[in-house]
Order: sequence, then C-alpha cells, then structure tokens
Amino acid sequence: MKILETTDLSVDFNGFKAISELNFSLNQGEVRVILGPNGAGKTTLMDLITGKTKPTAGKIKLSGTDITGLEPYEISKLGVGRKFQGPNIFDNMTVFENLEVALQGYHPVFKALFFKKKKEITDRIYDILTKINLERKALNYAVNLSHGEKQWLEMGMLLAQDPQLIILDEPTTGMTADETYKTGELIETLFKGRSVLVIEHDMAFVRQIARMVTVLHQGKFLAEGTLEEIENNSTVQEVYLKE
Ligand code: ADP
Repeated sequence: MKILETTDLSVDFNGFKAISELNFSLNQGEVRVILGPNGAGKTTLMDLITGKTKPTAGKIKLSGTDITGLEPYEISKLGVGRKFQGPNIFDNMTVFENLEVALQGYHPVFKALFFKKKKEITDRIYDILTKINLERKALNYAVNLSHGEKQWLEMGMLLAQDPQLIILDEPTTGMTADETYKTGELIETLFKGRSVLVIEHDMAFVRQIARMVTVLHQGKFLAEGTLEEIENNSTVQEVYLKE
C-alpha cells in the first residue's frame, strides 16, 4: 500500500522547472531519504506534498486520496506532519507544556477537554517524554534544552499529532556526531511503523536510518535504490563529482 504517490508532478517558477514530471512513491511504513545536490528540488518536493507550493501539473495522492492543490492546513489535518531544519518549539514554555500544546492546541475548548481527560493526556505526554529521553526535564523551560534535545522535543511534538506521513527536513543540522546517532535511533523507535520522508546529507546518518534512497537532480528523478546501490551508481557519482 502506497502512503504517497506523485504522478508527473511538476512545478514551474517563472519558466524554471524546480520539479519536473516526477513519479515518486513511498510505501506505508517506509523510511526513505531524499538525496540530491543543492538545488535538486528536495525542499520544493516537500513544499508540494505539504501544500506550501501548488503544482503546475501532475497529481499527489496520500493513501489513495487526491490531495493536489489542497491548502497546507487541510493536508496537515489529513495527517502530514513536517519538521523544518531548525528547532521550532515554544522556548518560554516547559517541555511538558510544549507536548501539551502539540496534543491539544491552546483553544479554550481543548483546554476544557484537557481538564476532563487529564490523566489520559498526562500519560500520553509521559510516554512520549520517555521515548525522547526528556522525562527528567519535563518541567524545564524548553529554552534551556541543548540543541539536540530541542530537536527531539519537536519530533515528540510531531508524534503527538499522530501523523500518517512524517517529513523531516535535515533533522541533524547543527548536531554533534553523538546527537546525530541518537536522532537516528529516535527515528527508529519514536516513528516505528510510520512512513517517514527525510532530506539529509550526512551519509552515516542516511546509512543508519534508510533502506531505500531516492536521488533527485535538477528537479528530476535520477536514481533509487539502497545506499550501496546509489553510491555505486555511475550517473549519481558523476552528478555529485560535478558539484
Ligand atoms: P534543494 O532543496 O534540493 O536544495 P530546492 O527545492 O530548494 O532545492 O530548489 C530547487 C530549485 O528551485 C533551486 O534552483 C531554487 O532556486 C528554485 N526555487 C525554489 N523555490 C523557488 C521559488 N519560490 N521561486 C523561484 N525559484 C525557486
């Protein structure tokens, strides 16, 4: 079963084809890395999937439903969660409160719900806190977390929204090697069984998390396979050497 499928997907920015007739698909429960030199169209592809950019042609299906042209909030409601490069959390709130917001939002109605179901929600928050190794820091202000911890908190917030497709945009940017490794472990445990698309350059990390890799070049599909196959692919080598 395909969680995501694009058919002849294209976007044109004033005559420049940032994504060109792309046929891409992701299986349910698969973690896939998108590789490609700068300007290959990786971010644009994620922008198209999340509705931030509208395609000029082609189709995008999410679990068989056509989502082409929908607004970002509609696509988000259908269960596509995206994490951008930098940590995007509420610095002046505690770790616990950040997860509370991700789970419930801050609308008064949700607050009332939170009050009713407090135990259930607190349990869910602590379950996520344990998974992201932040249970001891639940009451700390998020601003005081390390860079890695902030990124992990945001991944926990993403999970709290129970997405069917998770998009991570260079999640290890600015991390130490140790934090990068832990992030790889977290993707396996926290997002176990979920469908995940990752843009990433760190090859050790790519090797750690992905079975299959898709390579884009100049907005087009270039190659797909295991990292080993990709590394031995002469067309891919040529593109990267030219960089
Ligand atoms: P990557 O993420 O692989 O580095 P991008 O998707 O950011 O590549 O960009 C692909 C190409 O599309 C680049 O040449 C970029 O300059 C161009 N591009 C991206 N967004 C826009 C836009 N809104 N308007 C014009 N050109 C854009």
